[in-house]
Amino acid sequence: MASVSTQSVTDVHHWNDSLFSFKTTRDRSLKFENGHFLMLGMQIAGKPLMRAYSIASPNYDDELEFLSIKVADGPLTSRLQNIQIGDQLLVSSKPTGTLVVDHLLEGRNLYLISTGTGLAPFISIIQDPGVYERFDNVILTHGVRYVSELAYQGFIEEQLPQNEFFGDEVRQKLIYYPTVTREEFKTQGRLTELMASGKLFSDIGLGKANPERDRFMLCGSPSMLKDTCQLLNAWGFEESRQGIKGHYVIERAFVE
Ligand SMILES: Cc1cc2nc3c(=O)[nH]c(=O)nc-3n(C[C@H](O)[C@H](O)[C@H](O)COP(=O)(O)OP(=O)(O)OC[C@H]3O[C@@H](n4cnc5c(N)ncnc54)[C@H](O)[C@@H]3O)c2cc1C
Repeated sequence: MASVSTQSVTDVHHWNDSLFSFKTTRDRSLKFENGHFLMLGMQIAGKPLMRAYSIASPNYDDELEFLSIKVADGPLTSRLQNIQIGDQLLVSSKPTGTLVVDHLLEGRNLYLISTGTGLAPFISIIQDPGVYERFDNVILTHGVRYVSELAYQGFIEEQLPQNEFFGDEVRQKLIYYPTVTREEFKTQGRLTELMASGKLFSDIGLGKANPERDRFMLCGSPSMLKDTCQLLNAWGFEESRQGIKGHYVIERAFVE
């Protein structure tokens, strides 16, 4: 395992019974690209228990931020969900991952397709000013079961557009497209179905997905990734692999 540092919890926010976010201190030496994940955990009975976590904060931030599921009998999150400010967490020093904008070919529209905690790396990416320089439109989708799972909604819709450095670009280019499957909401249904039917593209007014122009980053459940990759492949998109740039990149939000 890569070397591990001990960091202090500086903030905890519970979104609902199944989701929470927290912040930790960050070693100045920890470098990462927006979209990366690292290993995070706790000492349990004298041993480190680590799990993969996407970093939700941007790489210029002094602190690290994470969005976490609460699995009732999960070895880590049954404990992690009780952390308090000042507690100590273990953070690996080698962030990594495929969900980085530099793995994508040049394009005009960047689609960030997420379900559940798959939103986390995109909270980092939408705070990257370089992303707004590179793309004409950045479309952040978030598919969840219940409205209370729409974490960061206020941040995305209200705070980020007021960012003193790149709020103008956010207001012009960021399109937020949340959808809910099990409750009444302005947009309902699974993201894959909304893409397959073309509704997602007509709702945002950008036309059907086209490999000439559109780039995709996917992060979510294994089934969402499988279905979305099938769709994109059928439409002529190619995944970035082994350092070769492509039309889309994927990262699992968890393993079943
Ligand atoms: C590349 C990568 C990045 C990840 N990033 C995050 C992240 O940013 N936030 C996060 O909460 N988790 C993330 N995970 C999942 C994480 O590593 C753990 O699985 C999670 O923290 C639960 O740990 P646990 O020990 O409590 O339970 P585990 O034994 O790890 O998981 C138990 C079961 O819970 C379910 N589960 C686990 N994680 C999730 C999840 N995120 N959403 C829905 N169901 C889940 C699965 O069915 C799993 O089999 C990521 C996983 C990978 C592979």
